[in-house]
Amino acid sequence: MSVFALPEGSYTIAQDKVFVPFNIDTDDMKDRPASLLIEIQPFLIELKNDLLLCDTGLGYLNEQGEMTLFKNIKRHGFVPENITKVLLTHLHFDHVGGAVQKTLDGLQLSFPNAIYYVQRGEYERAVSHASKSYRIEIIETLYHSGKLILLDGDGKINDEISYEITGGHTEFHQAYTIKNQDEIYFFGGDVLPDLYQLMRKFVAKYDYDGKTSAEKRVEFGNRSIEQNSILLFYHSIKVPLCKIMKTEVGFRRRL
Ligand SMILES: [Zn+2]
Repeated sequence: MSVFALPEGSYTIAQDKVFVPFNIDTDDMKDRPASLLIEIQPFLIELKNDLLLCDTGLGYLNEQGEMTLFKNIKRHGFVPENITKVLLTHLHFDHVGGAVQKTLDGLQLSFPNAIYYVQRGEYERAVSHASKSYRIEIIETLYHSGKLILLDGDGKINDEISYEITGGHTEFHQAYTIKNQDEIYFFGGDVLPDLYQLMRKFVAKYDYDGKTSAEKRVEFGNRSIEQNSILLFYHSIKVPLCKIMKTEVGFRRRL
């Protein structure tokens, strides 16, 4: 197994775009009206010559003052310095919060040896359109680090990693396909954040273009079956990753 989910816990999010920790055992959704319950879950993928991080979580610290993301990476036998590529789907705070860390010298990259990737259009939209979903100080730290590569359109980073603009969630949101000798992984970010969104027809209010997201999910579902790929779900509470199949009633998890 060369893929690891790095769960940061469950949160609710409402119109105000604030992520409030949610304890499945003791909290009740009745107390959080008009909120969405989600997990925050970056992925680590080990390739022959690369250690990839797929999105970076919220960047919150645990009780010991350590970033939960760092702790999760260490749990699998790595350190942040080992990460060689950070594959960002888009720049919303819950996907890039862990990309940088606070130090005495201000914000610094969390993964000093990594190259970070995002679409140029996503960067330009984020810095020119005020939105509660973006934290400009994080995005500018990435931009001025000299380690952020702005991608234009669809393409390949190398023989193992390709990217494609999906639109839908944000105008320039992108997805990644990663192949190693044994498996193909598909990371659809917030266009394919959860298995249940594949199982039910679902148009999300939080999307820039919910209809496109819904259509893309079907396309990605069909492609995943064709390629026998493993889907990685960034916001799934129950199933972080799985293969799928199709039945008369739609997509299902393949056991
Ligand atoms: Zn988002």
